[in-house]
Amino acid sequence: MIKDSVRDAINAQMNREFYSSNLYLAIAGYFESINLRGFSTWMKVQAGEEHAHGMKFYDYLVEQCAKIALGAIEAPRAEWGTPLEAFEHALAHEQKVTAWIHDLMDLAMKEKDYATAGFLGWFVKEQVEEEANATEIVSKLQLAAAGGATLLYMLDHELGKRGKAA
Ligand code: FE
Repeated sequence: MIKDSVRDAINAQMNREFYSSNLYLAIAGYFESINLRGFSTWMKVQAGEEHAHGMKFYDYLVEQCAKIALGAIEAPRAEWGTPLEAFEHALAHEQKVTAWIHDLMDLAMKEKDYATAGFLGWFVKEQVEEEANATEIVSKLQLAAAGGATLLYMLDHELGKRGKAA
């Protein structure tokens, strides 16, 4: 059984993961609107992953016989100025998520909740990957911004392969 403070913090993070899913779907919608379908494919796959993260927290609460508390999900932004700006937003968001996961880990340690700390280990690792992925694409978009449309279309093609690998 987990403590109420840990349960509440996990419920809060579950809701943030569902917000993340909606944020990435909103960014996908922005890319659809400028006909960069590869970028939007990448974002839709990312939205699915965020939903799966939310479900990991959900399943953990169930496993701990703790109550699920779904909250209102804030509407995400819908417009970005450039592809680079959209990915910079995604990177900044992932950095915030990392801080939230670390706060959760701090709480689990403070409460001597070793089961939750172990469970959170996966998310600590996952955030390293999330930040690395977003950082790499931000760097490539900075190159594309300097180098012109050809690089942008190449990148659109590359990102469009996400989730389609055999
Ligand atoms: Fe996540």
